[in-house]
Amino acid sequence: VRAEIVAVGTELLLGQIADTNARWMSEQLAAAGIDVTNHQAVGDNLDRIVEALRLAAARADVVLVSGGLGPTEDDITRDAIAAFAGVPLVFHAELETMLREKFRRWSAIGAMPESNLRQAYVPEGARWIVPDRGTAPGLALRLDGIRLYAVPGVPDEMQEMIGGTIVPELRELAGGDVITSRILRCAGMGESAVAERLADLFTSSTNPTIAYLASMGEVKVRITAKAPSAAEAEALAEPVVAEVRARLGDVVFSADDESLEQAVLRLLGSTKRTLACAESLTGGGVGERLTAVPGASASFVGSSVVYTAEAKRRVLGVPDDVLAAGTVTQACALAMAIGARDLYGADVALSLTGAAGPEPHDGAAPGTIWVAIADTSGFTHARGFVSRGERDRVRRWAQQAGLDLVRRHLEGAPLPETSLPG
Ligand code: ATP
Ligand code: MG
Repeated sequence: VRAEIVAVGTELLLGQIADTNARWMSEQLAAAGIDVTNHQAVGDNLDRIVEALRLAAARADVVLVSGGLGPTEDDITRDAIAAFAGVPLVFHAELETMLREKFRRWSAIGAMPESNLRQAYVPEGARWIVPDRGTAPGLALRLDGIRLYAVPGVPDEMQEMIGGTIVPELRELAGGDVITSRILRCAGMGESAVAERLADLFTSSTNPTIAYLASMGEVKVRITAKAPSAAEAEALAEPVVAEVRARLGDVVFSADDESLEQAVLRLLGSTKRTLACAESLTGGGVGERLTAVPGASASFVGSSVVYTAEAKRRVLGVPDDVLAAGTVTQACALAMAIGARDLYGADVALSLTGAAGPEPHDGAAPGTIWVAIADTSGFTHARGFVSRGERDRVRRWAQQAGLDLVRRHLEGAPLPETSLPG
């Protein structure tokens, strides 16, 4: 089965947003064993959308369209699909009822503008996919052996329909075999080192297959197995998952596709400990990531953004002589962690300080990072290293290193040593 994605929206062509919908859909389709052969992006222009649909339908079995299903004049995906199929748009009273009902429930957004009734029109012969999160119904149409689906552009509305309805239908279309993927996520080891340890597994395995995906400060190892049933696919994958885990050891922080912050919160929860942070160069980024996880308040107490030396002194009580020797130092990171632990009464505290760049900061070269932990037993550990890259990358590496330090401490795994003089 070959699929093509058509993203609709002039803002994509103006460079105002990136086509993250196509990226997400492609990832889901690949995991379902469906080949995505092309991506297109097209503006909010009827003729050009129709042209994009014709091209897609000429070379794929499945065409997935995202965007342009909203209530406004520039949302013309419905019209374009009708024009492409050569059918009229038909009004459906059930959709009007659904729309009015949604607006009644979401009373905060006020009465339904009449323009929303555009969303009650469906190309003749098409099915619709009832939206849960938004108002725009998805569309599904079969035409000359092609399956065409249209979903809203708003990412969580798109994800609901692709994940809940469309991928299951396509998986069935792709035929019998069930594909399962297990994702092991790793921190503290680069992609090439991971690949080296798994090299022979990588070359010798066809089912399951092993793939790597590296992003800043993290490597994902995906093990994908294909079999007639989910249980058989699981059984094929399991020994390879176990082997990969054994080879990578404590570098693996999750075998269930958890993020690093989710893994940290899970470990805090299971050991009934609390965490506080003191963030300098990350500016609250660690706290942001932790609080994005539902239920974080059970273990995460708080984070101070202590950006200047003065803030480190006033909020965390970092001593003057430590500050005088520099804020991007082992001593400062340790004093910040101890200060945060005591300020918040947390069981474990994490501190992050560094020179994010592009200029040196307080005598430290750009990219210099110190992260430290302190716990209530009096245990402390600091790690210093230099990250390459731009400011964003340095700040992201600091977060990864800090969260991974906490993760390792909670798991009782060896803590990484410093590659810098104190
Ligand atoms: P709405 O009901 O909000 O109008 P829609 O189906 O008409 O939904 P669009 O108007 O095309 O969708 O896009 C709505 C928002 O969704 C955009 O402002 C943008 O932020 C986001 N979006 C749209 N297309 C994409 C895409 N391909 N990738 C990522 N985000 C997108
Ligand atoms: Mg819109």
